[in-house]
Amino acid sequence: MAKALKTQFVCQNCGASYAKWQGQCTECQQWNTLVEEMLSQKAGQKTSTNLSKAALGKKMINFSQVERLSEAKQRFFTKIGELDRVLGGGLVTGMTILIGGEPGIGKSTLLTQMVLAILAKNTNSPNIFYVCGEESPNQISLRIERMLKHSKSKNLREKLNQSLQFVTSSDVDEITALMASKKPNLVIVDSIQSITTSDLTGASGSVGQIRECSSRFIDQAKAYGIPVFLVGHITKDGAIAGPKILEHMVDTVLLMEGERSGQLRILRSLKNRFGASDEVGIFQAVDWGLNEVSNPSELFLENQKVAVSGAATICVMEGTRPLLTEVQALVVSSHLAMPRRVGRGIDISRIQVLAAVLQKHARLALSNYDVFVSAAGGFKLSEPAVDLGLDVAIASSLSGKKIPQKTVFIGEIGLLGEIRQVAYFDRRVKEAKRLGFTKIISAKSHRHISQVIKAL
Ligand SMILES: [Zn+2]
Repeated sequence: MAKALKTQFVCQNCGASYAKWQGQCTECQQWNTLVEEMLSQKAGQKTSTNLSKAALGKKMINFSQVERLSEAKQRFFTKIGELDRVLGGGLVTGMTILIGGEPGIGKSTLLTQMVLAILAKNTNSPNIFYVCGEESPNQISLRIERMLKHSKSKNLREKLNQSLQFVTSSDVDEITALMASKKPNLVIVDSIQSITTSDLTGASGSVGQIRECSSRFIDQAKAYGIPVFLVGHITKDGAIAGPKILEHMVDTVLLMEGERSGQLRILRSLKNRFGASDEVGIFQAVDWGLNEVSNPSELFLENQKVAVSGAATICVMEGTRPLLTEVQALVVSSHLAMPRRVGRGIDISRIQVLAAVLQKHARLALSNYDVFVSAAGGFKLSEPAVDLGLDVAIASSLSGKKIPQKTVFIGEIGLLGEIRQVAYFDRRVKEAKRLGFTKIISAKSHRHISQVIKAL
């Protein structure tokens, strides 16, 4: 087999290379670390782009031309505000964006909606490629029809007819050849796991295939200045399927989160070469697509109309944006030798620490109680600034006392029960006041958790 000569199997742990695949690396004794790779850069390039003159020309920019590529001109907006926000102000020519998330979370929906938004707001008709690896053009068209019914933009259908091309190939070399000849303005690859190159023997979705195909898309995106979206599924442990190295190769990594049953979708930027990482966009899933949520705090605080015991309002930073949301706690007597500590959206070890602090420093007898804690809206709370709110919610549930309304809790709690100041405090307070909260409990008002509990 002549093809086998072009590739080798490289251990991802120690770098040892083998001619054939084997389960265990004989150098470092690790299992399943061997991944098929192209033998040399040269072999890879020859088959991928054929190094056209245009591509070579783009590799060299004269000093006088640099100004024309200035930031403002390079960028173009997707016209979905929350997406533009996460991208750091729209798309940049030649950028590759990896968008990850569990199957069915709405990645394809968001990208289809982005196509419509771009077309609706643009007078010239950009050429858009949609590579259908997962769904058939028929399925995608049906989704577009649903979105069209909700679109206020006129002659969107005509624009779609002109601009949108479905690419049905799953061969990366065919697709990049199409990109080289048609020079589209935007390419969406849905998904990278379904794309293969015949140069490697691995099946689609294998680490070697994902890496090689991505690198060919990235080369092409850079060569012709085409923004390319790569959709990537997520493995069980929450990593974007494929090697970690994929995240280093692309310019931007976006992650779509949320509970499939819930309506909330959070688009997070994990890496962004062209903007701030940690930025967050928030959407609400509706029957035809995704609605932008530009004022998320109001969404999360829906149930805040009456004072109840066991619920506290907190303020978290999502990217640069402060968000007010609610944490709930349920404390019930336990029959177990080791009472349970269960968290939804909150790390269990945090709950254990916070409960222990309450027990020791606020003298709450939690050792005979199960503690369940949950974050509203399927949110994941990892910031220390939520500590105070969590402890207050637990204490409130235990005592059955209601937490006064219009009160927000901002503070980290140390192991000695002291309340600590948190980052971006002023911004959080401003957001809380904007939403009508009058009482802010923080390191500025109280020094120790026991004082806060007593005051309630
Ligand atoms: Zn090894």
